[in-house]
Parts: sequence; structure tokens; C-alpha cells
Amino acid sequence: MSTTLAIHGGPKVRDTLFPAHVTVGAEEKARVSEVIDSGILSNYLGAPHENFMGGRYVRECEAAWAESISAAHALAFNSNTSGLIAAMGAIGVGPGDEVIVTAYSMSISAIAPLFYGATPIFADVEPDTFCLDPKSVEAAITDRTKAIIIVDIFGQPFNGPAIRALADKHNLKIVEDCAQAPGGHLNGTPTGLLGDIGVFSLNYHKHIHAGEGGIVVTNDDTLAQRMSMLRNHGECVTGAWGVDDLTNMLGHNMRMTEIEAVIATTQLGKLDGLITERLDRVAYFQEQMRGFEPMTMPKVRDGAKHVYYVHACLWDTTCGTDRNAFVDAVKAELPVFELREKEGVKLGAGYVRPIYLLPTFEKRMALQGPANGLTKSWQNYALGLCPVVEDLHFNSLLSHEFIVPSMERSDIDDVVRAFAKVWDARAHLQTPNAA
Ligand SMILES: *Cc1c(COP(=O)(O)O)cnc(C)c1O
Repeated sequence: MSTTLAIHGGPKVRDTLFPAHVTVGAEEKARVSEVIDSGILSNYLGAPHENFMGGRYVRECEAAWAESISAAHALAFNSNTSGLIAAMGAIGVGPGDEVIVTAYSMSISAIAPLFYGATPIFADVEPDTFCLDPKSVEAAITDRTKAIIIVDIFGQPFNGPAIRALADKHNLKIVEDCAQAPGGHLNGTPTGLLGDIGVFSLNYHKHIHAGEGGIVVTNDDTLAQRMSMLRNHGECVTGAWGVDDLTNMLGHNMRMTEIEAVIATTQLGKLDGLITERLDRVAYFQEQMRGFEPMTMPKVRDGAKHVYYVHACLWDTTCGTDRNAFVDAVKAELPVFELREKEGVKLGAGYVRPIYLLPTFEKRMALQGPANGLTKSWQNYALGLCPVVEDLHFNSLLSHEFIVPSMERSDIDDVVRAFAKVWDARAHLQTPNAA
């Protein structure tokens, strides 16, 4: 093998694209035809009527989802984003309230409270699981705190018992963003049920998908009813249903179509198998990487089933080689995935930018700007707010998706070869302070 790195003009470890990761096929196609033949692609009515809760395929999907994790309620939404916003509305957050959130996730996990005028308060994460740290959450609690949005980031369940104890003590609701962790569990409690409301995603990038979609689960009858009203023009049914608590009960249209529902139901049936395949890829990758000193493989919380949406490793920042330079060089050695060419090589230095560094926060400009006494906490959105998140993002986290089920062992072998090639040639990498 050539030792000239691809980033310096040498040949890549591999040119052929990685195989497309596709989870849909003949079964989904057959069921979509069934819906089209029925002539009804969505069957909601925004009125006090049995179809307020949607058509037969949406209900079938919800029943399957509820059964799969023994939840009292599952509600189909058009996205996880909608589900998180509805969760905030249902809990009754409003101006002046605070919701504790993580900075290291997809943006909606932290901005959902803003849609109701509540303030996101960022807590820091555990340095080895990357989920919100109970100690940091506790330190962020004030008498304005109403809820915590906690993410099972990268597929790892959050510390349910510790966060539950805090929530019970301070009378807070827990919203679990389990978009990245369907099929996971902690000590036998399925993800989705580790908090008061769980929100899954069915967007194209997730373990299973329906194009777009979200499933909200809860064992709380009142929250379930409130979320069903937020999903579908609830103001039209509160009178007929004799609903007393009208706080936030203005409905959106967050409805899933019948087409997405049958795809989601079919995909749910494949979830366990897809997770098993992922875990197999993870085990193989980790076995091949054993002895690769600068990288620590993901830690799995005691008692947890981690489902590896992303394989998030830690780079040893004292190893003498800069993580960013290393990642750039490995990326140059590897191909993109078929069908997802434009998304680039599925390897990253860090994950997403800490959410409080987005322009919305930096320029203090959500809604109509700081209002309703939010000014003080808005001043805190700046570099330095969550040191662990910042260290992970800017220095030590290294994440990749080469563990998706379409990756065969020979494909993973190429990934491992690329890591080894760059490590062996690390003396030729630019260090950040050189030049
Ligand atoms: C994908 C994702 C979302 C958003 O899901 P959508 O269904 O696209 O709205 C939210 N949170 C996390 C952690 C995600 O990974």
C-alpha cells in the first residue's frame, strides 16, 4: 500500500463507493399500494369526530408502536420536530418558564421551548456518554424550571434514574428525545419511556424511516390528549370534549399521512433486525481497531442497550496528532456512500456545533428578541457555557457512521486500513500551530 496520503496526492485506500444503506423495499411498496388503492391518503378531521385521531393506517401504526414498547399511548406526527414542540405545548411551558436542554444534539432538541416563549437553559454533558450530566442539570434548576429535554444521543440511553430523581424532587417533566435510539433500553425500560414523553424520528437518516415522521409515546393520559389536540387543530374540540386546561391548546397541523403510516409500521417490524446488524458492525469495527491507541471506543452505560445511531469515539488530545488534521486525512482516503454522495464521507471531527453558538442565540434573536424577562439568561449564551460539550466538539469527539447495516466486513476493513495508514504517516500531517 502506498504510504503517500491521499490528502497529499497519493492514492486513496478505496475509490469504490460504500454500499447504499437502504431499509425500504418490496414490503413497503406493497403496503403503499394498499393505501393508494384505498383512495384515502390521509383521514383526519379537525373536529369532534372519530377521525380527529386520524385514519386506520395511522392508528394501526400507533398501536404497533405502543405495543412494541408497552406504552399506554403512541401518537403519530409528521416529524420528531413537531413531536417535541407538541410535548412543550402539552406540558404547558410559556414565557418566563425555563427548560433545561443539551447543547450537543440536533437543534430542535434545544429550541423547542422557544416556540412557546420559554427559555432554553443549557446544561453540560457527561464526558463519556455525551448525554446530559445529572449534576449539571441539577445545578441549572431554578424555581422557573418546568421541564428537561434530554437526548439519547448517538443511540445511548440517558441516565434515567438520576434524572427521574431530580424531576420528582423539583416537580419537572422529562421529555426524552429518542430520535437516535429506537429499540434501546436502560435496565429493561425501553427508550421513549425513560421520561414522561418520548419522541422518535422517522426521517430518512434514522435507523428506520418513512421519509419523514415522528412517534410520540407516553404513559400519561392527560399529556397524550393534549398532544393529540396540538397535532390537529385542538381548539375545535376543547368545547365538545369539555377540556378545562386551555393553556397552549391551539392546534397545529402535525399529522402523519396514511402512506407514511404504513411505511412506518412495516419499518418498525424490521427494527430489531437492523439493530442486530448494527451491533454486529460495531463489534467487528471495535475488534479491528483494538490496539489503536489514540482512539477510545464508545462507553456503554451500565445496564444500557446502546443502538449506535453514530459510533462516537474519543480522540486522545495528548497523542501529539491533532484530531482535525487526522480526520481530514482519513476522509480523503475513503469514499462516500452510494445514494448519499452529496452528504460527504460519513466521518466527523465533533458532531454538530454547540447549539448555543447558533446565530439565533449569538444574536439573541428568536421570536422578537429578548422579552418577558428572558434577557438575563440570554446573556449567557456564549463560548464557555458548556466546557465539556466544547471540548468534545472542538478537540476530542470523533464520530462516524461506518457501522450501518449495509457495511460488509470487507468495507469495514477498508475503513480500518484508512485509519492505520494515516496514523502511520502522522508525521506528515500538519499540526495546527505549524507554518
Ligand atoms: C433527527 C433528529 C431530530 C429531528 O427529527 P425530525 O423527524 O427530522 O424532526 C431531533 N433530535 C435528534 C436527536 C435527531 O437526531
